[in-house]
Amino acid sequence: MIQLIRGFKDILPGEVELWQEIESIARSLFEDFGFKEIRIPIMERTELFARSIGENTDIVEKEMYTFPDRKGELLTLRPEATASVVRSYIQHKMYADNPVRKFYTIGPMFRRERPQKGRYRQFYQINAEVFGVASPYIDAQLIFMLATLFERLAVTDVKAHINSLGCPQCRPGFKAALLEYMTDRMDRLCSDCKRRSDTNPLRALDCKVPTCREAMSDAPSLLDHLCADCKAHFETVKGSLEKLHVPFEVDKRLVRGLDYYSRTTFEILTGSLGAQSAVAGGGRYDGLVRMLGGPETSAIGFAIGFDRLAEIVGLNRADLEKKPDIFIAALGEAAQELAFDWNCALDIAGIQTETDMAGRSLKSQMKQANRMNAKYVLIVGENEMATGEAVLRNMATKEQVAVPIAGLVEGIKGIFSAM
Ligand code: AMP
Repeated sequence: MIQLIRGFKDILPGEVELWQEIESIARSLFEDFGFKEIRIPIMERTELFARSIGENTDIVEKEMYTFPDRKGELLTLRPEATASVVRSYIQHKMYADNPVRKFYTIGPMFRRERPQKGRYRQFYQINAEVFGVASPYIDAQLIFMLATLFERLAVTDVKAHINSLGCPQCRPGFKAALLEYMTDRMDRLCSDCKRRSDTNPLRALDCKVPTCREAMSDAPSLLDHLCADCKAHFETVKGSLEKLHVPFEVDKRLVRGLDYYSRTTFEILTGSLGAQSAVAGGGRYDGLVRMLGGPETSAIGFAIGFDRLAEIVGLNRADLEKKPDIFIAALGEAAQELAFDWNCALDIAGIQTETDMAGRSLKSQMKQANRMNAKYVLIVGENEMATGEAVLRNMATKEQVAVPIAGLVEGIKGIFSAM
């Protein structure tokens, strides 16, 4: 038998209802905040991700699904959405009439990471991105929107961690101080951190290798190196979050894995998921639109790990799979013909109906209705055909009512609308 690819998964009925519910709550909240949906392809030219995410990141170095197509062009299954949204914003000149744009997008991402609980090779994200707003108020508003989503989903075990990564003015000074600190401890760093010390020393700050964590414990903090503008920006973000009653913690180690971030960066952490505790992450990326060929444009966004969110929301939920409203148990050809018509008419009336199409006995049809957890069974056999009344049985209470066969669909609709 051919099995799933490792790190990929099916989302089956019973679980998918939860995904639909989360998605619909997110959509309606984001749209209330003025975000518009954008749908982008799942594959792009490799260069887009290599340039935006950064050559010296885990994602680009080790995790992308990249392959040449039949003409030899290098393509990549998207490991994240921001680069594509930025490409689209630039390509369609969406900055021209109104540079301020808010987008959200929901879909699968692909990273060839080591699979484990909460970490997949195809996973899903809910992304939101804002272009053209430099003000720190939008940073706070975005985090507020994210916190509101968790609240609406009744997820309480979450906290925002925030940090500032500075800007091209102040980051070089910090990088130099960090590199000096790391140079003194180079022998205690892992091979990745050693190798990246020149190109991407910031990554050593959130390296998970225990010896690196220990060696980096007294590392200089970016917050001590922020320029006056970055400092003021960060103060306003913090002050606004306090005003909005969003609980947060300043986390000076939070640097995140992508090169394009600047200033405010944040993650939402939860205690409900064990090791994979980040359920969302994001930040400002003011230089990216320019870097990918667009005009100078401020931007900020976040990505929620949908799989992880669904896992938390689903922790205390029973099976959500929708049950049929009615199972029609029909005996005899004439009754089965009627059952087929009723089935279609009731389905389009929003009363989800199932029928046995194999001409089985009443007993096995009742068994089938039970297996499907149908709420009602409509019985129509020879007796019912003769008396002109079918029997509607409530499977929970065992109560039965007679429903005239003539005009049955209207009769059932009447009964259901009165419930
Ligand atoms: P990132 O794009 O790396 O900032 O990730 C944003 C969010 O996506 C994380 O906080 C996770 O919740 C989720 N995420 C990232 N990688 C994976 C993965 N391999 N499997 C499941 N969720 C992931």
